[in-house]
Amino acid sequence: MKAFKPVRGMRDFLAEETSLMRFIEGKARKIAKIYGYKEVITPVVESYELLAAKIGEEMRSRMFVFKDLGGRDVALRPEFTASVARLIATTLRTEPRPLRIFSFGSVYRYDEPQKGRYREFWQSNYELMGSNMPEADVEILMLTNSLMESVGLKNYVFKIGHIGVLRGIFNQEGLGEKTQNAIMQLMDKKQYEEALKIVEDAGASKKCISTIQELVKLKGREVFTIAEKLRKLVEGYEKAVEAVKNFYEILRLIRESGCKMDVIVDAGFARGLEYYTGIIFEVYVPEFDIALGGGGRYDHLIELFGGEPTPAVGVAHGIDRIMLAMQMQKATVERTERAVMVIPVEEGLKGEALKISQMLRTADIPVEVEVMGRKVTKALEDADRRKMEYAIIVGGKELKEGAVVLRNLKRREQKTVKLEEIVNELKGHGD
Ligand code: AMP
Repeated sequence: MKAFKPVRGMRDFLAEETSLMRFIEGKARKIAKIYGYKEVITPVVESYELLAAKIGEEMRSRMFVFKDLGGRDVALRPEFTASVARLIATTLRTEPRPLRIFSFGSVYRYDEPQKGRYREFWQSNYELMGSNMPEADVEILMLTNSLMESVGLKNYVFKIGHIGVLRGIFNQEGLGEKTQNAIMQLMDKKQYEEALKIVEDAGASKKCISTIQELVKLKGREVFTIAEKLRKLVEGYEKAVEAVKNFYEILRLIRESGCKMDVIVDAGFARGLEYYTGIIFEVYVPEFDIALGGGGRYDHLIELFGGEPTPAVGVAHGIDRIMLAMQMQKATVERTERAVMVIPVEEGLKGEALKISQMLRTADIPVEVEVMGRKVTKALEDADRRKMEYAIIVGGKELKEGAVVLRNLKRREQKTVKLEEIVNELKGHGD
């Protein structure tokens, strides 16, 4: 048979990468815990109609869609938000608000594969549902900041915009939802001229066009100055003015929270997902020009799925890209494991070796037993090659005294240790 490779856009994770992924997953889960987000597991396969409802044209066209054997139109989830919103609209309909929900898992998009862009990738996802208050938006930003910090990333920047400002202007100009979505998709790709062409063709006023032309230039770290300029710029567009107030409130709360976040306001920032209604944001590191995570406020999605009106804000972190960013920044991953290799000196001591291994495992010490029938010297070389930290050499002479030889493979030192002291030795003063 031919040699198979993973399907284009799909990857195998070998041990080292898997361990990095699980490290980040552990941090993401810890963040969920300390911020009060309860984890749920939703299906990878969902109804196409649900997933497609508000995802935006671009992503809709990139979904893995198929009919199941029962003839249902289904798709692999390209994100978590639709699934969580479905839950809130149905099973969790009567749960007291707010609801804080965490999910972790793989998502699927038929993107063009390249560095940091895959067809199967992993996200940690947090949704805060039931609150329309700015402090809810800030919480989502803060937990994102906590995650980036806890995995050891440096110099990451939050780019923040507000969809409510743009929608406020376009609604007052009488632009339909479809037209607005097409404009947002283009703005998301920074194709401002093409976006403006649609604004013009849709019959928007001259004031609208010049407002948008000025608005896309408002960008930078002096967030309050920019917010003030934005407020002046959108005067006369009532809903847009309200949105700027909300934007300002969020920026003020970020500052008052004391949370050290590097924020760039970008008034012309839009995102392809159609469900956003308020702030939107993405996180970047300087080494990498694609986002490590993104989110925002979406106040109408749950209603759309038949639920009670439930304002919500959420974020998805791209685990694969966080892994790449950590590798580029050489972020260090804490390693606490003290891997031990147990080697019997002769055939007759195999049983003893298994017994000692089990005793160590009961004390949570990771142990491998020599299973290749190697002699001690070869087995030690192998343990070295595999970067184990210790070897326990089980020999008849020491066993008679109730002891074994404990070898520190890094330091190339060894000593005889009583069996009852070995766990303490490895856990406490192993160094
Ligand atoms: P989005 O749902 O588009 O906001 O995506 C959230 C995050 O998922 C992004 O900020 C990326 O970090 C990550 N992401 C999106 N698309 C891909 C992809 N094709 N491959 C890897 N990560 C991705």
